Amino acid sequence: MSTFTVGIDIGGTSVRAAVIDANGAIVNRAREMTPASAAATEDLLVDLVRHLQATHPISGVGLAVAGFISTDRQRVMFAPHLAWRDAQVPAILSARLDLPVVMDHDVNSAVWAEYHLGAAAGSPVALLIALGTGIGAGLVVDGQIYRGAHGVAPELGHLTVVPGGRSCPCGKRGCWERYCSGTALAATGVDRWREAGREIPDELADSEVTGTVVARTAAEGDPQALAAVDELGHWLGIGMGLAADVLDPEVIVIGGGVSDAAPLYLPRALDTMRQTITGGVHRPHPRIEVARYGDRSAVIGAGLLAQHALVASG
Ligand SMILES: [Zn+2]
Repeated sequence: MSTFTVGIDIGGTSVRAAVIDANGAIVNRAREMTPASAAATEDLLVDLVRHLQATHPISGVGLAVAGFISTDRQRVMFAPHLAWRDAQVPAILSARLDLPVVMDHDVNSAVWAEYHLGAAAGSPVALLIALGTGIGAGLVVDGQIYRGAHGVAPELGHLTVVPGGRSCPCGKRGCWERYCSGTALAATGVDRWREAGREIPDELADSEVTGTVVARTAAEGDPQALAAVDELGHWLGIGMGLAADVLDPEVIVIGGGVSDAAPLYLPRALDTMRQTITGGVHRPHPRIEVARYGDRSAVIGAGLLAQHALVASG
């Protein structure tokens, strides 16, 4: 049996596939836009695996899905940006590819990569906070992904941090991810530029832009963008303090699309966490690290999960 598996990260915009070797290294990769229908998505996944099989002998496939996964990890129950509804995706693909297929939530896959090979390597309690469109969170406790009783833990992005605050697509107001995500950074940047009577940069006039534009502008020294990044740091610190109170992680890894700008906001985040964590200076605090694999962690983690499933099944 080969030691190569294919990890596939299926997001609302793109599908990224990679051949992962026994050391977790990417040895080949492919990327396509996410199709609109379930059938077309399944066809694409089959095509991607067959394409990658042409260069390496593949012994299994791991899927990282941005959605709600059943506790037995056999069904995609619901995914807001994908076509699957109550779909037995691993069984469908396994039958078509004649390969074992495992599946997990995308942030669980990401934290698995960081726990095995990245910024949280070997940590007894490792929490990944991925800042992107929203906040994704993944937790590894004693070498196991912690999922909760119904498979949806840890859902940190919708903790209320500002009662009556910014409205959230989840139906509530003041959720943490409304203040601490790529989307939040863009919204705060626009607010600060407007308050200063400045023109919104062209890229930000389009409401679809992410916080990476604000982060880049902040890195160039723009005062309003720097203020927005500082606010992100404040709210990251508030949330990390809450998460540390509940979970007492040994390490918190910051990942997702906004993690590239971490040097701009981590000092503020650490400061705020130290001031708000229960017990203050009279207790150990978690280490804070930036994700080693950035936005590749989910695809690497999915490939590793497939390898670990193969080892477990002998
Ligand atoms: Zn919410």
